[in-house]
Amino acid sequence: MALGEFQLIERFFTRQRVKRDDVELGVGDDCALLRMPSDARLAVTMDTLVEGRHFPQATDPAALGHKALAVNLSDLAAMGAEPAWITLSLSLPSVDEAWLDAFAGGLFQLAEAHGVQLVGGDTVRGPLTITLQAHGFIPANQALRRDGARVGDLIYVTGTLGDAGAGLRIALGELSADGADGQFLRGRLDRPTPRVAWGLALRGLASAAIDVSDGLAADLGHILKASRVGATLKFADLPISDALCRRVGEAGARQFALTAGDDYELCFTAAPAQAEAIAALPFPCTPVGVIEAGEGLRVYGPDGHRMPVEQAGFDHFGASP
Ligand code: ADP
Ligand code: MG
Repeated sequence: MALGEFQLIERFFTRQRVKRDDVELGVGDDCALLRMPSDARLAVTMDTLVEGRHFPQATDPAALGHKALAVNLSDLAAMGAEPAWITLSLSLPSVDEAWLDAFAGGLFQLAEAHGVQLVGGDTVRGPLTITLQAHGFIPANQALRRDGARVGDLIYVTGTLGDAGAGLRIALGELSADGADGQFLRGRLDRPTPRVAWGLALRGLASAAIDVSDGLAADLGHILKASRVGATLKFADLPISDALCRRVGEAGARQFALTAGDDYELCFTAAPAQAEAIAALPFPCTPVGVIEAGEGLRVYGPDGHRMPVEQAGFDHFGASP
């Protein structure tokens, strides 16, 4: 016999190893009861993954559990928040125990790595849809907001960009999945690494930050708009992986780096006075451009000529979905 709603919750969503001291009451009552550190701000974010829209049918459920949490932790990272609690709303077409087991496994593995506890949620029957909300703490006035970029600030990105975009081409069958490079690129799409510790390290250094979910040009555009400034980027400075370079060539890789989404790296700005401290950080940060007064984004190629930018990031309600 199929599991009922409450058995399902009990079986798959109460067996987590993380037990935080600040959770007075977790899953099981009408509400969770949570203790806030004094003088912290609560950072709250939510993302929804819809089957057929954000992931194809028959996607590996463990990867889905991972990704549903990873994209939320990435938002906390981009704010400089320390993750604490999550809530999960699941809409399921049927009770598939193998699916639920793998999904919960992927979710809790990443949750444990970050000391995050699932404290509540909702479970309903319907088209497969996963909504996850994450909560984290930031000391007052230390949040990495989008509106803090100032003229003269340098623009940085963490890690490498464009890998997940190539991973999506692989998933769509437009690029070969062969070999270690193919696996690496596919992994960047399916199991993104939220840069949580990196976001925390940027408190007090970065003037503005955002995570790169829709592509660098689009996401940097959000910082520019919120901060009422413009920017110049150097195309040749965009950090790309060797794997991506081997697959699509250097120019192709940088085009992916500029416009493709889903990498979940951080893009941030910082005053030039912080350059030394940023260079000394124990993770890769690459300067890629500078904030300017003139609004809009300008990209210059290796020959010094201005390049056209396909600026549009993914917009669910845009003209060409
Ligand atoms: P209510 O009827 O009060 O909304 P529910 O029956 O929806 O409560 O849920 C019962 C308990 O199980 C609540 O504590 C709720 O937070 C928790 N819960 C429900 N679904 C999930 C889920 N997918 N993950 C974690 N907790 C869940
Ligand atoms: Mg409910």
